[in-house]
Amino acid sequence: MARTTREGGDGARMKLHQQRTCIGCRTITSKNELLRWVLNEGTPLRAVSLDLQGSAFGRGTWTHGTQKCVRQAVQRKAFARAFRSAVDDSQVVQEFTAYEDQLAARQQSGKHDESGSEI
Ligand SMILES: [Zn+2]
Repeated sequence: MARTTREGGDGARMKLHQQRTCIGCRTITSKNELLRWVLNEGTPLRAVSLDLQGSAFGRGTWTHGTQKCVRQAVQRKAFARAFRSAVDDSQVVQEFTAYEDQLAARQQSGKHDESGSEI
């Protein structure tokens, strides 16, 4: 079900939308606008990874889907703060870039994505 809600300046309040903070720019916004990141407890370094379904088990944290916010979060060590522990955020920017590429590839649907870089 595609929900097409316009965030206009009409003052329409969306009480059903949960509010989350982007750990990059610290803006509080509807979680529909944000990407969820989770801690991969199974890895020795506790890597932060993107949760595309938004439903992975465990604690999650949020950023806007922009390079700026993702990079800012890494620079500020905001992931470690959000998860309250040492984390490996070295793959975060790469993972986000791959995600962006996938989105772009999907949008121009003539292209075939051959590099399915599963970790
Ligand atoms: Zn942001």
